[in-house]
Amino acid sequence: MAAGAPAAFAAMPQKGRGGPRLQKKLTGFAIRPDYLTEAEHIPGFWVSTFDGVQRFLTSNVRKGTVRTIGTTAGGRPIRAVFYGKPRSGAGTSTFSGALGYGDVRAWVGPDYEKKVYWGMAAIHGGEFEGIVGMVNLLAVLETGADLRGKRWPELSAAAAALDRIVLLPIVNGDGRSRVPLRMGSHRGSDYTVAEYFNTGGRPDGSLIGWPQCKEYIPLDFSKTQFPGGYPNDAGVNIQHDDFFGNPQPETRALFTLAASERPDLTMNMHTGATFVHPLRSFIEPALQPSFEGVYRSIMTALTKAGLQATDDPAKEANPSREGLSSFNLDSAINMHCGALAVLVESPSHTFSTAKRQGQPFLHTPEHLVDAQLICHQQAMQFLVETGGRWRWTPNPRSKWRTPSAG
Ligand SMILES: [Zn+2]
Repeated sequence: MAAGAPAAFAAMPQKGRGGPRLQKKLTGFAIRPDYLTEAEHIPGFWVSTFDGVQRFLTSNVRKGTVRTIGTTAGGRPIRAVFYGKPRSGAGTSTFSGALGYGDVRAWVGPDYEKKVYWGMAAIHGGEFEGIVGMVNLLAVLETGADLRGKRWPELSAAAAALDRIVLLPIVNGDGRSRVPLRMGSHRGSDYTVAEYFNTGGRPDGSLIGWPQCKEYIPLDFSKTQFPGGYPNDAGVNIQHDDFFGNPQPETRALFTLAASERPDLTMNMHTGATFVHPLRSFIEPALQPSFEGVYRSIMTALTKAGLQATDDPAKEANPSREGLSSFNLDSAINMHCGALAVLVESPSHTFSTAKRQGQPFLHTPEHLVDAQLICHQQAMQFLVETGGRWRWTPNPRSKWRTPSAG
């Protein structure tokens, strides 16, 4: 079987603006049948498919507001959920201008004290853990409990102390729809199938692989057996889009939303690690100490929950372990709106090479959801406790006053 666009969101050609266009080959990929084996028991809380998430948003979000913020290259809606009130008014300068002036409030505007949190998942469509985490986070925000019925009082309290929450469970609906699985079967320590569904397979079925998948953007789908869930339907891995030239509609939608919301902190949830950990994004150097604060907060909590390689927070929560990532979507979001842009990598539900306390360790679906929710909880708590972007880079000498105060 092949993953086609759902009829309701049938592929439509992109118009104008130049840049990569819709791929000619979008369906009929010759995926090996044995790669398509689903997990024997898929828990009810594992909401991961494009259609499943749309249904969840429509049926379960009542306190939040669901809005379509854009359309993918393949014509699928990009939906976001909003809680709280947005920042009102505008600053007196551009983000770049505000940095040059020496006070980010000149960009953020009169509501600079508001704390705005942003979470997004499935920039890469084959990475389900972030989606499932986002859906369970939405369940906590709506009901106080995740889809297993587990209550998260600390997470609920942190969320309640924020002014605004913006969540995007599936950014790359094209890539997600292309991967025809809800929950893949566990393959022991073999990552072949996980990698195939992420970065794709060559015509002979061999893996394109990471980071080789980044050599060709856009990827020509006709030169693959399966293009993987990384790209959108124009073949572009939006984590590495042409940000300043001809960005894809997904990226444009994120940029427009980011400029309007001016989030303090953005969490970009991916899969591709042995244990959950945030990566150090290539962002403003002035924000690196705040990244390290978020990192310590998340990693300490994960260690205490038994979800790291050892039980030693001094070792696991040491941010000097994280080298600097290359320029990517998180860098662009930071440069566009000033957010502390954090990318988190999760283990996959389909294979495990992890060792904990020296022994092989299997992340169960329950562990994976717990880790996702701990990441959001700790990041939210960090934002609540430290006050947000304007407090992370204060300028005591600045004389900037809100426009309304004259
Ligand atoms: Zn990824």
